[in-house]
Amino acid sequence: MKKEPFVAKEQLDQIVKEYPTPFHLYDEKGIRANAKALKEAFSWNPGFKEYFAVKATPNPFLINILKECGCGCDCSSMTELMLADALHFDGQDIMFSSNATPASEFQFANEIGAIINLDDFTHIDFLEKTIGSIPETISCRYNPGGVFKISNSIMDNPGDAKYGFTTEQLFEGFRVLKEKGAKHFGIHAFLASNTVTNEYYPILAKTLFEVAVKLKEETGADIRFINLSGGIGIPYHPDQEPNDIYAIGEGVRKVYEEILVPAGMGDVAIYTELGRFMLGPFGCLVTTAIHEKHTHKEYIGCDACAVNLMRPAMYGAYHHITVMGKENQACDHKYDITGSLCENNDKFAIDRMLPKIEIGDLLLIHDTGAHGFSMGYNYNGKLKSAELLLKEDGDVQLIRRAETPEDYFATFDCFDILKDRKKR
Ligand SMILES: *Cc1c(COP(=O)(O)O)cnc(C)c1O
Repeated sequence: MKKEPFVAKEQLDQIVKEYPTPFHLYDEKGIRANAKALKEAFSWNPGFKEYFAVKATPNPFLINILKECGCGCDCSSMTELMLADALHFDGQDIMFSSNATPASEFQFANEIGAIINLDDFTHIDFLEKTIGSIPETISCRYNPGGVFKISNSIMDNPGDAKYGFTTEQLFEGFRVLKEKGAKHFGIHAFLASNTVTNEYYPILAKTLFEVAVKLKEETGADIRFINLSGGIGIPYHPDQEPNDIYAIGEGVRKVYEEILVPAGMGDVAIYTELGRFMLGPFGCLVTTAIHEKHTHKEYIGCDACAVNLMRPAMYGAYHHITVMGKENQACDHKYDITGSLCENNDKFAIDRMLPKIEIGDLLLIHDTGAHGFSMGYNYNGKLKSAELLLKEDGDVQLIRRAETPEDYFATFDCFDILKDRKKR
């Protein structure tokens, strides 16, 4: 599928006059349309709810848009819980899916009424000691081990993943939780990441539905929801076929009717915790080409770096790049597109065929709306960029300002670098 920017060159030229590059830009219209499609695809399930994975894009303005679209949120840490609380989500609209969880985070999650999704059998006792009892509604994360296959291809390797209860622990866990006072149960699993296939959710759902039926039979637990978690991917590469969310919803409905309905479990709610699918395609990183270098290879140096988008450096991930205004020119130049970190993996693209790039050209790096800004760090003393929202009415709103040196130095309480500098 051809990748087109959601913003036109003329508009971007206007935006960069007010907000210097680099920045992440998000597309409100696309976000809303996609959230609506997800809701429709699962409308056959009256209890359906998407809990947006906050870690993907922890920006309150964007999460508020998703909230308006009927989403809850899925938090993994204290600050994410604080963010959800500040946005006035109801407790039952906050999922707390965390691992190696500090006691203070269980405490706070419980205070704000979030649904706690336990990552491990030993966390049952830990939680009880921490908050004094077991909540009436509780969820457990399941990890069946082995490899996760679709047809004959291995999608991911849950047996190697640190998350979740084994099958035995899950059954024992439900018994113990019930004894300790839990009344309503959820089951959660996240077995493969960034799947660009309509089959992942239905296959995962089948595994979870089968185990849910057994759990109900053997422990008598009242299972209220099954959480398919994240993992629906996006086509980062133009050769990839995008997922069809309606086909995915339909695929899950089929197994629901095959397995849960005959077992008298036709009232179980389906939950999701999508991050990448909700925002990935609706964000981009805009950067300016500021240098060209001709050595053993041809390099374009830009004003963004891995601090703004870590996925290429961390996973060798492909992110499509559009040279703004040159969409229809031949891609007859081979470049490495680099940032300025003292790290040779700081490259947004390697050996990428692109139109001839001039200094000053705007490069638009696609699909940075999830796990983009949020994975950023401060290596080399680089500062995090601004985040902007392209609103439905065409206006642009600054939804996070760029970091300043003051922000970067703010944690040296007893060593005021900036004041010292002024004295000299
Ligand atoms: C990261 C994560 C998600 C979201 O994953 P995506 O790949 O962005 O869909 C959902 N749930 C949990 C528990 C996660 O850790």
